[in-house]
Amino acid sequence: MLDSIFEAEEAENASKYEPHRFTLNPGMLTIGEDKNGKPIDKPTSLPTWRFVSEDRDTLSALAELYGGTPEEFTTTKKTGLHLISEAPTIEAVVHSPSDIDSNLILWGPHGPAHKCDGRVYTSRDEDEGQPCGCERFTPEELRARASSGKGGAPFTEYEFTLAGKGDDLGKGKFINGGKEPSNWKASATATKIRNAAKRAGEPILVEFLKEFYSFTTDTGQLREGYRAVLSAKGTYSSAVAENR
Ligand SMILES: [Zn+2]
Repeated sequence: MLDSIFEAEEAENASKYEPHRFTLNPGMLTIGEDKNGKPIDKPTSLPTWRFVSEDRDTLSALAELYGGTPEEFTTTKKTGLHLISEAPTIEAVVHSPSDIDSNLILWGPHGPAHKCDGRVYTSRDEDEGQPCGCERFTPEELRARASSGKGGAPFTEYEFTLAGKGDDLGKGKFINGGKEPSNWKASATATKIRNAAKRAGEPILVEFLKEFYSFTTDTGQLREGYRAVLSAKGTYSSAVAENR
């Protein structure tokens, strides 16, 4: 999943969005080694939220609000600045339903080879709006196609500002996606939150929570980590009123 997020981080440079000041990330990549000693990026789950930004001042301001210390990070593909905060929960404001984007993406060597909403192409090229062919598949078939690399996997993107004191730190972005089953769930959540924003007709509060999980696989291995859980918490105006 995290590999996919980094691909998405790179692809976003050419995206339709206005520049954002930081991204919110559920985990990170750390450099490890494969069996032959070759460096590889290993996804690492974090109990708290991580911010990535090119701007050290933004990260310093975020550190004051959410804890942690801005520092450099390195993966096999890139270096950058990040902040591993001390916050398991971030409250954000989604200003409009169009700030939540949910697509199926099949990555090719030069970016998305197939990008659609399950019905029509959403890639910003001559195919945009044309039927993409995914509609003929059942949800189960779509999942199977994504798992085998034949079809797009769900990617959701949120654009937001921080609720409360962080509201002047500019736009943030959260990207979630990949072939894993959890991303289909995340895609359904995105639809739910977008519908909540539609119904509200005004900015809504969205909670980004890191939740601990633990389970034993069929082969008896223990898997533990932290997953991102997102939920809509009503209109931002009513949340502000309640806090007064
Ligand atoms: Zn499609």
